[in-house]
Amino acid sequence: MNIHEYQAKALLRSYGAPVSDGRVVLRAEEAKTAAGELDGPLWVVKAQIHAGGRGKGHFKEPEAGDKGGVRLARSVEEAAMEARRMLGRTLVTHQTGPAGKQVNRVYIEDGSDIARELYLALLIDRKTSRVAFVCSTEGGMDIEEVAEKTPEKILSFSVDPASGLSDFHGRRVAFALGLEGAQIKQCVQLVRNLYRLFIEKDVELLEINPLIVTPEGNLKCLDAKMSFDGNALYRHPDIADLRDPTEEDPKELEASKYDLNYIALDGEIGCMVNGAGLAMATMDIIKLYGAEPANFLDVGGGATKEKVTEAFKIITSDPNVKGILVNIFGGIMRCDIIAEGIVEAVKEVGLKVPLVVRLEGTNVEKGKEIIEKSGLNVIAADDLSDAAQKIVKAVKG
Ligand code: GDP
Ligand code: MG
Repeated sequence: MNIHEYQAKALLRSYGAPVSDGRVVLRAEEAKTAAGELDGPLWVVKAQIHAGGRGKGHFKEPEAGDKGGVRLARSVEEAAMEARRMLGRTLVTHQTGPAGKQVNRVYIEDGSDIARELYLALLIDRKTSRVAFVCSTEGGMDIEEVAEKTPEKILSFSVDPASGLSDFHGRRVAFALGLEGAQIKQCVQLVRNLYRLFIEKDVELLEINPLIVTPEGNLKCLDAKMSFDGNALYRHPDIADLRDPTEEDPKELEASKYDLNYIALDGEIGCMVNGAGLAMATMDIIKLYGAEPANFLDVGGGATKEKVTEAFKIITSDPNVKGILVNIFGGIMRCDIIAEGIVEAVKEVGLKVPLVVRLEGTNVEKGKEIIEKSGLNVIAADDLSDAAQKIVKAVKG
């Protein structure tokens, strides 16, 4: 689960990490009061969306004077004006995709003067199964770009969970970032605080880009991106409360209500599959035959008829879906349950696109019979490859 920058900064502050004072604004009328509560003489107005690259982003339906989703202001009035002109508009960045994201909140912050922009992140390194630090002197840039063009400017190391974090980790970061004197001590403290936050709150990613050095020589977290392990949210109700449903795909929200493993994608073929591995293979083979999956969906082993019905409804609610491929290998999941769910869902919401069904395994005959008797216009398929070819053909002609 992702949270907004202003929420991440509140967490950072509570863990003793240096951040600027700021106010979140949801309605344009609040902007002036909010800006007036900050000291100045520099204000930064920042669009709050769950995507990075805001500074270099652009608004849909451009207006004169547009400058992306991070803007500097020299007065309370100017800050309020910048906030007003961002709210409600759609910001497009390289992370939002071409559709962009609507700006429903802005963060007005005390502006900082910058001497250096650095990069610091903590993440779960799946290769070592450990928490890893990533740091670079090239802050404020896309770290992917730095990794590609100048990989030598990135230092990454992981922390042994048995011995935990020590000050030498902090010093290692400090030296990699080219810090000197009192900054080294600040960095050691910062690394300690960030690590504690990361572990205590089951964080998955904590990225500070940029971490700045001010002209006075102090460190400050100028941007913060945080995401949390969804499977651990049950033990952090305070974090779960930070969820902003307006930032999430409504189809994914609906799916999470029914405990379905559903991820929305951009393609045209809806997939209903049991088992994550088979779901991945199904997506691969759709691509192999020249089309794109509209979603990942694993209905799981113990799915009920109701769950299957909901899953089918979510798939058909996606206007991009031009065809549906059901691919079930009944093991724990029984084919007749799937068949009943599909028939039920079609009864409720109708079927306007071609549907290819491949059933195999437990109760396959029963499943096929249910679908046949229902009179549904289903294209039957024998195996995975046959099924993929049939749905791609049905969609692409
Ligand atoms: P992002 O574009 O979504 O990554 O948003 P950031 O918060 O990282 O802001 C983008 C850039 O705006 C930063 O790299 C800085 O160069 C600049 N910026 C952000 N906050 C301040 C500030 O307080 N003062 C100044 N001078 N620049 C800022
Ligand atoms: Mg940034």
